[in-house]
Amino acid sequence: MTEPILRVRNLVKNFSVRGGILAREVDRVHAVDNVSFELGTGQTLGLVGESGCGKSTTGRCILRLIEPTSGEVWFEGKNVTKLGRRDLRALCRDMQIIFQDPYASLNPRMTVGSIIGEALTIHGLAKTRQEYEERIVQLLETVGLNADHMRRFPHEFSGGQRQRIGIARALAVSPKLIVCDEPVSALDVSIQAQVINLLEDLQQQFSLSYLFIAHDLSVVEHISTHVAVMYLGRIVEIASARELYTSPLHPYTEALLSAVPIPDPKAKRARIMLQGDVPSPIRPPGGCHFHTRCPIRQMPLCGAEKPELRQTSEGHWVSCHLRG
Ligand code: SF4
Repeated sequence: MTEPILRVRNLVKNFSVRGGILAREVDRVHAVDNVSFELGTGQTLGLVGESGCGKSTTGRCILRLIEPTSGEVWFEGKNVTKLGRRDLRALCRDMQIIFQDPYASLNPRMTVGSIIGEALTIHGLAKTRQEYEERIVQLLETVGLNADHMRRFPHEFSGGQRQRIGIARALAVSPKLIVCDEPVSALDVSIQAQVINLLEDLQQQFSLSYLFIAHDLSVVEHISTHVAVMYLGRIVEIASARELYTSPLHPYTEALLSAVPIPDPKAKRARIMLQGDVPSPIRPPGGCHFHTRCPIRQMPLCGAEKPELRQTSEGHWVSCHLRG
């Protein structure tokens, strides 16, 4: 891994569930449970897991769009979790987000030019009207749109084009890190590849680092240098993409991988169907969170003891009593 641009240490996020007429806390959702990882400069970490596993909450806590309950986030040597409002605003220039839903994330009443230009105005990045408009045109062209699109509204665009507008908005402030929060999940499969290719080109062009959140391993396969797999708020495996796709260790990673289509029609991979649903993050199972669905669990060990995330080889970490 290159020198880390981002270090996440023991990140925890709990949400209160309130009830009764006094709106007292009656329960707690354990959305992110002691998550740690690093992202190398200019690299992409794919963060993968089923819906509700805490991956988007992790991304938002890193940017402090949601305040973490505890833990630390270090960006280029600065502790993001300790920054005051002003410093955090300055840091927003370096760290941006692309949202999942290109339909909901763009203000329908604003023109595309105003959506992209908003950040230029907030951060004082254009001195004159001409400079402002030239920069917007440049950003539109960078993402494969053109100057004519500037005065149109989001509803006039397809899903793929709207996601390009979202990318242009993120690029407006010349960030170093972008949290891509399921940026292609709402798009048709044919359009997904185009958006991923665009993100790869932009990474090369602007030396960007990505935290790329997705719910299946097929989406992040080509863009990721490393992949972290999450289950019920915890990271269960991290490795380089090559290692994770060829030699997965955790049974949950194996199950996710078994669902990834293989391009060679003659090659076959046995599909591992997990039993049951993901348990509630309000009362996650004890011991290994995955033990209620794990095809190789060993009781009582797996139900009683939490497996630590252990390094099994250079850069390959797994949280399982029986593997590694
Ligand atoms: Fe399965 Fe046990 Fe490993 Fe958890 S610790 S993944 S339950 S074998």
